[in-house]
Amino acid sequence: MLTSTEQATTYHNFIDGSWVPSVSGDLFENRNPANVDDLIGVFQKSTRSDVDRAIAAARRAYEHWRLVPAPRRAELLFRAAQLIADRKEALARDMTREMGKVLDETRGDVQEAIDMTFFMAGEGRRQYGQTVPSELRDKFAMSMRQPLGVCAVITPWNFPMAIPSWKIIPALVCGNSVVFKPATLTPLSALNFVKILEEAGIPPGVVNLVTGGGEEVGNALLQSGDIRVVSFTGSTDVGRTVSQQTAPSFKKVHLEMGGKNVIMVMDDANLDLAIEGCLWGGFGTSGQRCTAASRVVVHRKVYKDFTTRFVDRVKALRVGDGLDPKTQMGPVVSESQLKTVMSYVDIGQKEGAALACGGHPLRSGALAKGFFHEPTVFTDVDPRMRIAQEEIFGPVVCVIPSSSFEEAVGIGNNVQYGLSASIYTQDINRAFAAMRDMYTGIFYVNAPTIGAEVHLPFGGTKATGNGHREAGTAALDVFSEWKSVYVDFSGRLQRAQIDTAEL
Ligand code: NAD
Repeated sequence: MLTSTEQATTYHNFIDGSWVPSVSGDLFENRNPANVDDLIGVFQKSTRSDVDRAIAAARRAYEHWRLVPAPRRAELLFRAAQLIADRKEALARDMTREMGKVLDETRGDVQEAIDMTFFMAGEGRRQYGQTVPSELRDKFAMSMRQPLGVCAVITPWNFPMAIPSWKIIPALVCGNSVVFKPATLTPLSALNFVKILEEAGIPPGVVNLVTGGGEEVGNALLQSGDIRVVSFTGSTDVGRTVSQQTAPSFKKVHLEMGGKNVIMVMDDANLDLAIEGCLWGGFGTSGQRCTAASRVVVHRKVYKDFTTRFVDRVKALRVGDGLDPKTQMGPVVSESQLKTVMSYVDIGQKEGAALACGGHPLRSGALAKGFFHEPTVFTDVDPRMRIAQEEIFGPVVCVIPSSSFEEAVGIGNNVQYGLSASIYTQDINRAFAAMRDMYTGIFYVNAPTIGAEVHLPFGGTKATGNGHREAGTAALDVFSEWKSVYVDFSGRLQRAQIDTAEL
């Protein structure tokens, strides 16, 4: 097992088709959150001058790439999708090692990148515009998508390959070039993804990878006059900064931010199914999904039964290294994330919620060198409590009693976020009413709040998003702009809204 920086593999930035060190010569470490003795590698701690070089390369490459016909661009993406599929297992193992979630889930993360890349490659032949009759004779009217230029892609650590693919692949199929800044906690998966794009034949400069800190690398991207699109996924606080920093230069900004998602369990729900869903939704990825079911609102008629059985199941979850096939829940991603979880457990107890199980970090035996925390459930939570309002991003679920469907919907909506919600019920009328009334970007019936598929739009309302969506064909709207084109073949001046065509 590696322990020192000197022994570790050094990974580089990818700029203009070459793997290069940062101008600064500085590096940062990437360690396994299940065992901090496991040093995965050292990565470039880049600076503004690295970012400037990457942007200049992307700017040059754009002029060629935008003219490559979209179906030809897509051929390279199909090749990339197949390469990811061929290496799925190794990519998933690297990912578990660098961010902790269990192998089944990292395989799912890589699968999502495969799905997205195949799906978006298909869009190479489907970037439909509109052709409409002109109001004037001998005049042709149509709209078409066009790329914008250099896109900055800034991503979090919880979906280290899926989220970059949601952004980079639609950017490329639309004809843009990219400068990609991944989270500092998951640079290896980002690098693995970019290597595959290189191998698939994406030309030099079209995709550039610059690793390093949010302040240094992120700010340089946000402030550059040559970046036309910023696609950001991360916390609401940083998203606000992104929004503020990019407003003066009118960049197109796509923000996917935090969540405080809810599962509503009605009195007629299939409780076995609901409990299964709450376990997966609440503790998958150790609760570190933007769509995690961190709130469960349960009808009082089934509240006691639900909480007793749910807590028993949570207590039985096996926590450990995500590479061990017996593990059901891995560590949280970092020491600071662990401290955040512990502080919210403290806050919940002080607020008067009942700690039904968990509540402690796990620091003994095989878990001593990782950032493990017990899966934790608070019951009798008042929806106004901080633990029921703020994103904890860890293995903590708040169970809130409610007396009616209407009250549950009210509680569900009454948070600053609006990403995902779900209802467990056998009543079709309630299911449709909730589908309509929950103000979220994603909604599920008889399934937990997680489980999005790549061919539908993904994103949230209120403090979760700024009105854009990724995935599905909606993603094309982030990475392209509409141009309306009129071709007059009458040979004379025809004035719209003034001259009228003869009947
Ligand atoms: P984060 O906001 O700390 O970081 C996200 C990215 O922004 C990282 O690459 C980081 O280095 C960069 N960054 C930090 N400061 C910056 C700055 N000043 N300028 C530019 N970039 C900067 O988030 P995180 O801890 O990596 O991820 C967790 C958060 O992401 C949670 O809030 C979660 O809900 C959210 N998330 C949202 C979605 C979604 O689709 N809505 C999906 C996954 C994660």
